[in-house]
Amino acid sequence: MTVESRYRGRFAPSPTGPLHFGSLVAALGSYLDARSNGGTWLVRIDDIDPPREMPGATASILRSLESHGLTWDGEVVLQSTRIEAYQDALDQLRRAGVTYPCACTRKEIADSQRRFGYTTSAGSNVYPGTCRAGMAAGKSARAERVRIGSAVIGFDDLIQGPVSQDLAAEVGDFVLRRADGLIAYQLAVVVDDAEQRISTIVRGADLLDSTPRQIHLQRLLEVSTPRYAHLPVVVNASGEKLSKQTHAIPLDNHQAAANLTRALRFLGLPSDAGPAGVTELLEWAMRVWNLAHVPHERACAEPG
Ligand code: GLU
Repeated sequence: MTVESRYRGRFAPSPTGPLHFGSLVAALGSYLDARSNGGTWLVRIDDIDPPREMPGATASILRSLESHGLTWDGEVVLQSTRIEAYQDALDQLRRAGVTYPCACTRKEIADSQRRFGYTTSAGSNVYPGTCRAGMAAGKSARAERVRIGSAVIGFDDLIQGPVSQDLAAEVGDFVLRRADGLIAYQLAVVVDDAEQRISTIVRGADLLDSTPRQIHLQRLLEVSTPRYAHLPVVVNASGEKLSKQTHAIPLDNHQAAANLTRALRFLGLPSDAGPAGVTELLEWAMRVWNLAHVPHERACAEPG
């Protein structure tokens, strides 16, 4: 399938907490790339993982985007309203014979990984395929996985350059429906990006590792693969990605222009000599935005 020819971008935060500097960088990068290409920019809330959600986070994220001048097109889509579409996609994959039920607990997976040496140098764990040929007698299904076969997935990232991943060796058959019954992010994101006809995904490089899985699902579901641009990850002074878990400081919406100035600098647009207001800053940034100037490497950008 061919990629959507009109530019359609999106920002898809999980409502696990308020917007912080790292998520502002992701939002701003995708906004600028979309707007500077005359494109549409959508906001989608990835709220299909209730255990990880924080009450009020969605409203707080949207307020922060508005305060920073990042206005989106159309209605905000909530993944929690799209469960049926994910279920349909899962059914389609089932009918194609590429999924199977899995009875393994985390502990069983860890034990057999140790036994068979199934860990990669990157430290991520590979599913050892225990239930691939059927569950052991007496076991009942917990999760549902997709069969990988021998897929080596490669793509040209607009910032990071050529990326290739041997899914069988580095990931293994991955989960589409979790043991708690929830649809996995990898499937939901593919269904939504296809439904919203997203042409270009600009997001943090912490998701670079997930992209080959998503491309694999796009091929199985026969939907088009968008272009990808993975932005450098913002880390704290200890080298950890800014997140709720690492106690990232929520953005102060009253400091929007200063926050944007820092985020632009992080994205390779030193705007020190540029304009001071939110609107003028964004207009200026749209004129000079160039993916080629975005640094590749993760970098520290502590508030201040
Ligand atoms: N909701 C995901 C996150 O906040 C991002 C999804 C995406 O951009 O694909 O990490």
